[in-house]
Amino acid sequence: MRRLIVLAVVTTSLACAPAVPGPVASDHRAVFDGTGGRWIDLTHAFSESTIYWPTDTAGFQLEELAFGPTEGGWFYASYQFASAEHGGTHLDAPIHFAEGRWTNDQIPLSALMGPAVVVDVTSRVTPDYLVSVGDLTAWEAAHGDIPRGAVVLVRTGWSSRWGDRTAYLGTDLVGEPAVAELHFPGISEDAAAWLVANRDVVAVGIDTPSIDRGQSADFRAHVTLYRENIVGFENLADLSALPATGSFVMGLPMKIEDGSGGPLRAVAFVPADAG
Ligand SMILES: [Zn+2]
Repeated sequence: MRRLIVLAVVTTSLACAPAVPGPVASDHRAVFDGTGGRWIDLTHAFSESTIYWPTDTAGFQLEELAFGPTEGGWFYASYQFASAEHGGTHLDAPIHFAEGRWTNDQIPLSALMGPAVVVDVTSRVTPDYLVSVGDLTAWEAAHGDIPRGAVVLVRTGWSSRWGDRTAYLGTDLVGEPAVAELHFPGISEDAAAWLVANRDVVAVGIDTPSIDRGQSADFRAHVTLYRENIVGFENLADLSALPATGSFVMGLPMKIEDGSGGPLRAVAFVPADAG
């Protein structure tokens, strides 16, 4: 009987509690309801046509396990998928090219997000273009120093070719013979080394298949950045909605224990007053 009375008192006091909006909810509302800015999806969807490195001929595989009405009367859909870590929009964990550096699951969240620095080279890009130190210093001359903790996003415009594998990779070959024929822009070793020596960025992303250009045979941008535990995002989708500075980007991968990379959902928030 005593228990019942206590319950009644609690219920009454809850019912009488004034409905005060919480400060956390109101602070965050503008981020999520569209009034404070826009969320931009920087991710290509995974499908049969997702572009993988030419030596990966399996690609993305989605197998239907169930789709339709059940005997119980409800609808039910379920699939299983298979994929290499490094295909489509994906993460490069530093261990991908640097022994002893972070695996996918070891990367702290703080290294997967940060203020976006968008280096736009679309006006001068060629299929073998290398982003130079000059491209980075020109960006800084216009926008100030690359901030600490930044995510540097290289915009080449290559994402507009995504639906056309041959145009995107620079070759219609598949398998090992394709590798020497790849043509798409990337980041020079010098630019990677300049970032490491002079700035404190957490991640580098690009809208091409690789942070090293297609014609690279030694992957120096990968090695130079990843041995410093700088993270890579590759095959990013259209970056044109992002201002040069002022947006916030995050790339959250499928968390694979001991993985060297993984499928990535990359998004950016562009505040209403940015750019
Ligand atoms: Zn990769």
